[in-house]
Amino acid sequence: MQLAVDTIWQDVIGQIRLHHPQLVRGWFSQLHPADVERGVLAVRTANGAQSRYLDRHCRKAFVEAAQNITGRLVSVEFTPEIESCEADSSFLLDERDTELSLNPDYTFENFVTGPSNRLAEAAAHAVVHQPGETYNPLFLHGPVGLGKTHLVHAIGHQLRSSRPNFTCRFITCETFINHVILALESGSLHELRNRYRNVDVLAIDDVQFLTGRERGQEEFFHTFNTLQQFRRQLILTADCPPSEITSVAERLISRFASGLVASLDPPDLDTRVAIVRKKARIRCIELPDDVADFIAARYETNVRELEGALVKVDAVSQTLSRPIDLPLAQQALGNANRPPLSIPTILDVASKTLDVKISDLLSKKRSRAVTLPRQICIYLVRRLTGHSLEEIGNHFGGRDHSTVLHAIRTISNQMKENDELREAVENLENRLENAR
Ligand code: ADP
Ligand code: MG
Repeated sequence: MQLAVDTIWQDVIGQIRLHHPQLVRGWFSQLHPADVERGVLAVRTANGAQSRYLDRHCRKAFVEAAQNITGRLVSVEFTPEIESCEADSSFLLDERDTELSLNPDYTFENFVTGPSNRLAEAAAHAVVHQPGETYNPLFLHGPVGLGKTHLVHAIGHQLRSSRPNFTCRFITCETFINHVILALESGSLHELRNRYRNVDVLAIDDVQFLTGRERGQEEFFHTFNTLQQFRRQLILTADCPPSEITSVAERLISRFASGLVASLDPPDLDTRVAIVRKKARIRCIELPDDVADFIAARYETNVRELEGALVKVDAVSQTLSRPIDLPLAQQALGNANRPPLSIPTILDVASKTLDVKISDLLSKKRSRAVTLPRQICIYLVRRLTGHSLEEIGNHFGGRDHSTVLHAIRTISNQMKENDELREAVENLENRLENAR
């Protein structure tokens, strides 16, 4: 019987590799089939994080493959091994908080260190070894896409195995604020406090979203004090250092900075090359060295974009059924020596595409017809040029850097929820790419 299951499983994995290579991860080799009974192919995973990844992203592909191979209407179930299942139950991830269900790829092993992130990574390790003792709170900050969430998840994975009895809560700041609002509405503050104050480790990602949220700040302040008093570990991240977070009470800012504040900066070329290679290994992509160098040289400021480029090259290689080499990568990612985009070019193309005058984009006018296009322009200038927040502010009619930051956050948040806006921004970005 086991033999039959094993054979089915090998074929299923073979089909996934063939038809859905983008889903495949190195750790798939650790999955093993338990049995196939009553129409269910039961698959054991090493931990809850792997099961959740498979459930969320791969279920359909696995079911299709299993049905193809067996010729029967089977479903597929992913279950973690018993031990880690128990550890999971004290690991309180909020199911509605999809972003912070631990990502199985975000481990210390998969994190590449270099001068730009060494302190942050070392501090994350120290937190795992002595939670609540060494650096409390640990405050990680840096621009988007440089590994803050990755490091927080790495701490989570490590604690899950080294401290199985710990109660850890990992959450985004937005979810925290939503819980506060719900608790206020439904009169369940007591439950809320129980939830956040009776834990061994509390990680809150992207605390810059506390800006202007007074009740959220108030609740957070008391949560913070309680946890610190009992030497429970706090881990916070933000897209800027504590001192630059705007509209947050001073007493909170000073607490944010009271432990260790570590920044993640854009990685240097060598680190980027190492990251591209590691990402390729994780995704089981055969990547020649010159292609890794080529990709790493092109994307300087954001590791997420580096990874996106790798995935794009891989997708083109699949589509054309050609192995990855330098000409293919150049074809997939466009001309290597494109001139950088300038702010005037961006304004010119944006003004035509979004139908607003350049003078309005640069003016102090605050009507929505002008504010939204202006915020989109600021967002794209930040994404597509190397200009600092201050420089961008100066270009856009002498606005200060917190206004620029606010515009960037507004657009990147709204893009998550509003498909129409996302398409408009992506469409404009494509036009700008062509205008280089
Ligand atoms: P942030 O939270 O800072 O916006 P993330 O943690 O979401 O960024 O990272 C974005 C992507 O870049 C993730 O896929 C992450 O794995 C990857 N990444 C960032 N820095 C590194 C690194 N040093 N080594 C490996 N992967 C990295
Ligand atoms: Mg993040």
